[in-house]
Amino acid sequence: MFCDLHMHSTASDGTDSPEMLPQLAKAAGVNAIALTDHDTTSGLDACAGACGECEIDFVPGIELSIDPGRPMGTLHLLGYFVRQDSEALNGIIKALHESRTSRNPRIVKRLQELGIDITEEEVLGHADGATIGRPHIASILHEKGYVKTIKEAFTRYLGASGAAYTRRDKIQPEDAIAAVHDAGGLAVLAHPVQLRLPSEDAIEQKIASLRDMGLDGVEVMHSDHTPTDVKYFTKLAERLNLMATGGSDYHGTRKTVKLGSQNVPYSIYERLEGARDS
Ligand code: AMP
Ligand code: ZN
Ligand code: FE
Ligand code: FE
Repeated sequence: MFCDLHMHSTASDGTDSPEMLPQLAKAAGVNAIALTDHDTTSGLDACAGACGECEIDFVPGIELSIDPGRPMGTLHLLGYFVRQDSEALNGIIKALHESRTSRNPRIVKRLQELGIDITEEEVLGHADGATIGRPHIASILHEKGYVKTIKEAFTRYLGASGAAYTRRDKIQPEDAIAAVHDAGGLAVLAHPVQLRLPSEDAIEQKIASLRDMGLDGVEVMHSDHTPTDVKYFTKLAERLNLMATGGSDYHGTRKTVKLGSQNVPYSIYERLEGARDS
């Protein structure tokens, strides 16, 4: 039996609806899923209902964009088994939403200055979910032929070294971890390789400091992780007394990653489920 504890729907930058994901999971032989849309819980109720119909176990989740503390890396925090009535978590979701609402127009303006034909209305029209971000802009650049791939859109324009890169205010890790806990959830560091830290010492220090803030687990299996990474982070999680989790980070057609592709054992879901009560 398998689970997949990391995926996105049209509520953020995935291309499948929250109702559709459980059917796709069932077809892929996955028995438990977590929906972890960027900075929103708006898809959770619909996905929970569809999981019930498919007889698949459901983890209501979220993936929060956190200040990585250095210019290049990415720090994403997964919240698992979060309730939607937490004032602290809803406050963070609101702050993240506002930071996006102010950033997207700045990116569009910069692209226009670079001679690209794109408008804010187009970007809004391209997303039907709550969380609109760079992947939606990347899709427009791709469809209009400015870039050959989504990846090229990030390299040339939208990524940290791109010509239209625009920072946005980010949430501090201690606040995000506390908010996930306030919502009754477990806080897990997503895809630690994306922190882009220079050494194993730096990685261990960073994860230990997050654990001291209350982090509960580390995502050890992920599409960006090599088999060596998986072994390394599994050991590190053990040493730091953190839970190990895993997921594909499926985004539908926006990325090549397949739902269920990490073959995460169902026992990882069971352990997470068990930890939530204690
Ligand atoms: P945003 O939420 O607007 O900051 O955009 C983050 C999203 O962009 C995440 O889903 C990333 O997976 C995606 N992303 C970041 N860098 C790249 C890249 N080089 N190629 C493709 N997708 C990327
Ligand atoms: Zn995404
Ligand atoms: Fe992520
Ligand atoms: Fe993700």
